[in-house]
Amino acid sequence: MSEPPSDCLFCRMVTGEIRPDVVRETDRTLAFRDINPQAPTHVLVVPREHHATLGALAAADPGLTAELVAAAHAVAVQEGLVTAEGAEPGYRLVANTGPQAGQTVHHVHLHVLGGRGLGWPPG
Ligand code: 5GP
Ligand code: ZN
Repeated sequence: MSEPPSDCLFCRMVTGEIRPDVVRETDRTLAFRDINPQAPTHVLVVPREHHATLGALAAADPGLTAELVAAAHAVAVQEGLVTAEGAEPGYRLVANTGPQAGQTVHHVHLHVLGGRGLGWPPG
């Protein structure tokens, strides 16, 4: 794990300095509603530990990467986007990496999007 920047927004949510609208938490992950939702359900899922990108997390801690994906799926189930073992009606996970993809917060996060038809290809 690289040293987190002291002003990392999502680290400040993990410590409770900023209080997001939490929908689910585990000992290693936190899920909260996006402040600027792009779909009826738009939840961000983060590891409590600071890693800048999904690739950096995968390289540093494959187990935590799997926990993050499982946590995102659990949010989708909790939000009624799918049944635990099904895929109907469905949801999308997004992990923006880097400026061209539109990453604005440099603490890895999965966007859980659902509740409407989602176009493809994405913008
Ligand atoms: P990115 O663009 O890095 O993939 O996603 C960052 C997300 O964080 C954006 O969807 C943005 O709306 C969300 N966000 C930015 N600031 C806040 C905040 O203060 N609270 C919450 N809940 N979400 C935020
Ligand atoms: Zn952070």
